[in-house]
Amino acid sequence: MKLQWKVAIVTGAASGIGADSARLFASEGATVLCVDRDHHGANAVANEITAAGGRAKALTVDVSSEAEVRSMVDTTVEEFGRLDVLFNNAGVMLPSDGDAEETDEAVWDQTFAINVKGVWLGCKYGIPAMRDTGGGSIINTASFVAVVGAATAQLAYTASKGAVLSMTKELAVIHARENIRVNALCPGPLETKLLMDFLDTEEKKQRRLVHVPMGRFGQSEEMAKSALFLASDDSSYTTGSTFLVDGGLTSAYVTPE
Ligand code: NAD
Repeated sequence: MKLQWKVAIVTGAASGIGADSARLFASEGATVLCVDRDHHGANAVANEITAAGGRAKALTVDVSSEAEVRSMVDTTVEEFGRLDVLFNNAGVMLPSDGDAEETDEAVWDQTFAINVKGVWLGCKYGIPAMRDTGGGSIINTASFVAVVGAATAQLAYTASKGAVLSMTKELAVIHARENIRVNALCPGPLETKLLMDFLDTEEKKQRRLVHVPMGRFGQSEEMAKSALFLASDDSSYTTGSTFLVDGGLTSAYVTPE
């Protein structure tokens, strides 16, 4: 059991990476707070975990709301006594995200409120709780686009993930001596609702797959296994990393020095 007795918050736990990570963390012994703005989805995942003999609780939270994120951490500490793992994973890619000229201000603001401010708020309230625990692991979901950009225009999303990556590196350095590790999980293109809603034609899907050496989309279960590594003591000397799990995509883009 890699997370025995640990308490973990997973945001975006109603679907995709978050749902599979919540299930995997619980199966490795963690008590998991399944956090999402989708009340029914978060409840379903938490119920599934408890039915399988694990420990979980669903919380309905909009990660872009400071009051709700503060209450998320307060509830965790009040009910379970500690916070060991914070997986800031909730994120959106809005359908009308485009290039610099096409993208509306509202799309930009909403993307940044959830993808960037949401991660910052998680850290703002999660870090003091982790300090009281004696340390912990924060995983922020960025993306391969933070490293190389995207072939299909999604400027607000790409810029938001770049912000998540640089915020992660700075936090890792600031909190390294407090035994708080902070890493960015950078998935490649995945077969989850988020991307499949965006790449809504076969032509768009194939356009994206051209760039993936493995020739397939990743699965959320594969991201959950990587998140487990970062959450657990297996990664005890890993902090500030750009943890790419992308089917080789960035290696195909980036040329060596
Ligand atoms: P998903 O759409 O399946 O799941 C995202 C979850 O986040 C949903 O359950 C949604 O309700 C929740 N959410 C959205 N806004 C929220 C908010 N304001 N407050 C609380 N919950 C909110 O997507 P996924 O593919 O599992 O994505 C998870 C993360 O991985 C995101 O940060 C995404 O940007 C990132 N990512 C995804 C891909 C991909 O190809 N799917 C690639 C790289 C990075």
